[in-house]
Amino acid sequence: MPCLAAGAKRRFLASSSSSPPPKAQGLGSQLPEARTPSGQVSTATSTVPPKLITRGPPEQSSQKPVPPKECGGKVPAITRQRHLSLFMDEGLKFCSSTQDVTEKELKEEKAAYHQSPSKRMDQDVAANTFHKMQGLEPGPEAGLHKTRDRGAVSQEVVLGSKLAAQTSFSLQRPNSPPEEDPLPGATLYQRLKEHLLTQAQLKENGYPFVHPKRPGGAVLFTTQEKPPQDASCRLCCRCGNQYLVARRGHCVHQEECHYHWGRLRPTPVAGGWEIQYTCCSAPIGSPGCQVAQQHVQDGRQQDLQGFVQTLDKELPPGAHPGIYALDCEMCYTTSGLELTRVSVVDSALRLVYDTFVRPDRDIVDYNTRFSGVTAAHLAHTSTSIRDVQAALLTLFNAHTILIGHSLQSDLLALKLIHGTVLDTSVLFPHRRGLPYKRSLRNLTAHYLRHVIQNRMDGHNSSEDASACMHLVIWKMGQDAKTER
Ligand SMILES: [Zn+2]
Ligand SMILES: [Zn+2]
Repeated sequence: MPCLAAGAKRRFLASSSSSPPPKAQGLGSQLPEARTPSGQVSTATSTVPPKLITRGPPEQSSQKPVPPKECGGKVPAITRQRHLSLFMDEGLKFCSSTQDVTEKELKEEKAAYHQSPSKRMDQDVAANTFHKMQGLEPGPEAGLHKTRDRGAVSQEVVLGSKLAAQTSFSLQRPNSPPEEDPLPGATLYQRLKEHLLTQAQLKENGYPFVHPKRPGGAVLFTTQEKPPQDASCRLCCRCGNQYLVARRGHCVHQEECHYHWGRLRPTPVAGGWEIQYTCCSAPIGSPGCQVAQQHVQDGRQQDLQGFVQTLDKELPPGAHPGIYALDCEMCYTTSGLELTRVSVVDSALRLVYDTFVRPDRDIVDYNTRFSGVTAAHLAHTSTSIRDVQAALLTLFNAHTILIGHSLQSDLLALKLIHGTVLDTSVLFPHRRGLPYKRSLRNLTAHYLRHVIQNRMDGHNSSEDASACMHLVIWKMGQDAKTER
């Protein structure tokens, strides 16, 4: 297909193969995340026709519930219907049948309606009810420990100076965990070992492996996206349109990118189900609800150079190799998604490493909605990905347990090869199995009754890393209880 081919095919791509930025976790949680041929998590594939209405699954088919009519209603019926749909979506995650949900949600919606003297208030009450349904109200057992950053080590401290990245340096880390650890480090390490990804799972989930021949190269075992025949042609990972780039990766034409930042989710409508975007509740195939200055590409699977691998290290007697949770943020550059922030949390939820990173190529979109990173954050940052790799190779060794949610995405951004991995998207699988995955936001709301990623200014990698660690420790505690 020639680049920038116009017409139906192009519109079809735009409507159905848009994928959110990596780890884009909106309000939706147990959302179907189908894999694109590239192995990247995406909300739809091009085999899904626009405006698809499914019947039957995902749950028992049902008629769209209608809020009970009231004389002299204060709130427009359409607003109430929207709130009801929202409640339905949330309810489906926790109830066994659609009928259960419908009855429960009609009650919730009615209660919200009767509490609200005005439309504005109705929205507030509905929002509260919605949060309550997500389990977001702190219970007695709730309370995610705030990441304690008193032990945070900055890039400069870790490396001594930028020059240290090219020389040898050491990072002093306590071998024994602090007293407040719920499980002593060595015990926790042994427990977590039982949940590590197998080689097959690492491959299946798109983790990078050492290239057998090319030094610094990586290989993936997930299906690769075919590179376009025209070397100057790119596929926008937000809207699915093709676009032309010049030699250094800059767009040839000034063309806005219209896209949906939300995921696709099956939603009950009259007579069945409709696939809708979570960002704007528009049906699949609708024109994008967001506008960006230009198209962008993921590019990480095509850029498999510059990788480093964690090393075997000798440990002092009695020490364990360490347990850390990790999360990265990325922005779009002329070559695709590049690392722009990394946070590492230890098993006592202390932030031990947190730095902004200056990408190698020119930034074309800060991806702030998801990364939380702005131009101001990077204005005085000179830390490069190589500095980060050097610091992490000091902090980790080959047997360090790294915890993350879809951690392959972070390792690709870090260009770090590591095989001792505990992935919370695998530890807490979606009830329908792959390619469905539960979002980190949903997991923390469900199990820890704590809401994350609720900011208007984007995600926060230290919060997400901390949430992963907390989830894993919580799970180990639950397992220990059931063993007794
Ligand atoms: Zn949208
Ligand atoms: Zn685009």
